[in-house]
Amino acid sequence: MIIVENLRKKFGSKEVLKGINFTVNDGEIYGLLGPNGSGKSTTMRILSGIITDFEGKVMVAGVDVSRDPMKVKEIVGYVPETPALYESLTPAEFFSFIGGVRRIPQDILEERVKRLVDAFGIGKYMNQLIGTLSFGTKQKISLISALLHDPQVLILDEAMNGLDPKSARIFRELLFEFKEEGKSIVFSTHILALAEVMCDRIGIIYEGRIVAEGTIDELREIAREEKLEDIFLKLT
Ligand code: ATP
Ligand code: MG
Repeated sequence: MIIVENLRKKFGSKEVLKGINFTVNDGEIYGLLGPNGSGKSTTMRILSGIITDFEGKVMVAGVDVSRDPMKVKEIVGYVPETPALYESLTPAEFFSFIGGVRRIPQDILEERVKRLVDAFGIGKYMNQLIGTLSFGTKQKISLISALLHDPQVLILDEAMNGLDPKSARIFRELLFEFKEEGKSIVFSTHILALAEVMCDRIGIIYEGRIVAEGTIDELREIAREEKLEDIFLKLT
């Protein structure tokens, strides 16, 4: 479970999060939708223990993020907006590096890498330098590396960017499995149709505030609009 209470964040004198509140239950996919610069990635970096100077209360799977950001990094699987990978390693080397950092037992690591690499069909790239791979392939490596320690919580910042339709479907199915296992998932995207099929509830963030929240049907009521695109345009 994730609990965010009155979250505020300033960069210099500019306040970019102005009192964000939301919760994500176990087994729930929570969508964060909002225009460019509204504060989605900043919120997600805070939830992942990357940004540690903020005001307000953020609890992730029972861990207080401002007290124990290192612990949060252990329990969260974070996929950043832009893949942050070592370009001079091969995927095989990179996964084994992640396994070391995360202290994942070798046999479990190998089994998880094999399953995910096979699922995404990137076995043929395992011994090529990451720096030479396509954007979508890097994105898949980023996704896999975030899943290897079987995190209880997933923070996915536009994580389906660059995935071809087949890979996107595989990833969607994986997320539904994680949901069944009771993981909490925060999911940002600009693809509204994707949010509609993926998310149990959606928070619409605008200029550092959540301006509306609910299931798609609840948002329809709030905005008095039928289509998610019209709801989004009306509220932001
Ligand atoms: P996008 O849809 O473009 O990804 P976003 O909703 O993820 O946008 P953020 O990246 O969270 O938006 O940015 C929110 C605001 O915070 C923006 O005004 C941005 O310029 C500012 N910001 C983000 N990171 C920093 C930083 N490291 N230093 C200064 N300002 C920052
Ligand atoms: Mg962003």
